[in-house]
Amino acid sequence: MQVDLISIGNELLTGLVENTNAGYLARRLWTKGIAVREQRVVPDSIPAIVRALKESLDSSEVVICTGGLGPTDDDLTREAVAKLLGRPLVIQQQWLQRLERFFEGRGYPMPPANRKQARVVEGSRLLPNELGTAPGAIVPAGRSWIILLPGPPQEMRPLFETEVLAFFEEQNFRPSWQTKIIHTTGCGESLLEEKVRQVGLPEGVQLSPLAMGGEVVLQLKTHIAGRAPAALLEEAARRLREPLGEYIFGEDGETLASTVAALFTGRGMTLALAESCSGGLLADTITDIPGSSNFFKGSLVAYSSEVKVSLLGVERGLLEKQGAVSDAVARAMARGARRIMGATVGAAITGIAGPGSDSSKKPVGLFYTALSAPRGEECRRTLLPGTRRAIKERASQALLAMLWRMMRPGS
Ligand code: ATP
Ligand code: MG
Repeated sequence: MQVDLISIGNELLTGLVENTNAGYLARRLWTKGIAVREQRVVPDSIPAIVRALKESLDSSEVVICTGGLGPTDDDLTREAVAKLLGRPLVIQQQWLQRLERFFEGRGYPMPPANRKQARVVEGSRLLPNELGTAPGAIVPAGRSWIILLPGPPQEMRPLFETEVLAFFEEQNFRPSWQTKIIHTTGCGESLLEEKVRQVGLPEGVQLSPLAMGGEVVLQLKTHIAGRAPAALLEEAARRLREPLGEYIFGEDGETLASTVAALFTGRGMTLALAESCSGGLLADTITDIPGSSNFFKGSLVAYSSEVKVSLLGVERGLLEKQGAVSDAVARAMARGARRIMGATVGAAITGIAGPGSDSSKKPVGLFYTALSAPRGEECRRTLLPGTRRAIKERASQALLAMLWRMMRPGS
């Protein structure tokens, strides 16, 4: 089975909004064994949408469009599909009533423009959007299908995960391949490749390693046409777990943060952070995980020296002698966070995110990550090039990796 993606919106062409929908859909389709043939970005214009749809329908069984389903005059996707297929737009009464109720619930009558959102191309199936006013639709187009999804990612994603995937199953669309993803940290891409070469993979399993943000993702893929794809992938994963076991923190979309969260929660332990250069980014990552309140006490963004001294209890002399970006200060911050928040484990980040250095003339991209735990203390020094944002991200990932190594079974 083959899919084309069309992202619709002037704001995507100008770059005002980043096209995350196409990336999300492509990743999800890949893991489901479905090939994306082409991706296109087109403006809010009926001729442009019609042209893109025509080209895509020539080659792909399914075309997924996102955007342009809103109530405003520049939302033209429905009109373009109706024009291409020569079918009228008809009001879907149930959705119209739902829209009216939606606005009543907010205390005002439905604006006339929203009526447009209850129109569907005749013969299509409406996909109820629980989180917004624009429903999706599945429109039969000869031997192919056009799937319309709303533009806002938080509305598009759940509709894809439920309605679109269910539709694929219902149609018996056969995936072309099966995948397994293994997430590792702490071992470089080339060394990983070398270790994989030594164990060898079962015939028919392809591996693509991908380094991203402090982790190396190993993507395993096998074609369905081969024998027993699931067993083949499991065998490949088993072979990889031997030489790489100490680096593997998760599989199939697990993240370092979710793995660490599960370990803390499972052991009834708590975590407190002191973040300097990461500015609270690690707290943000952790609190994205549902249930993080079970183990996460909080984070103190101790950006200035005064706060490190007055709130975390870092000795002033230590700061003056070693500088804020140092092994000793990172450890003192971790101890301080643990003490003031009464957590089982304290963890800290201090570094130079650039673009200029501090008064110590230490290099940009230098950071220290430290842990203070019942069994003792540890601190790591890392030097990585990068923008401010990249350094904040890498420092947060580095501290998560330390937490994982400390907490993982058998350590
Ligand atoms: P709405 O009812 O919200 O208008 P819609 O289906 O008409 O829904 P658009 O108007 O095209 O969607 O886009 C609404 C918003 O959704 C955009 O301003 C943008 O923030 C976001 N959006 C649209 N397309 C994408 C995309 N491809 N990637 C990421 N965000 C997108
Ligand atoms: Mg819109």
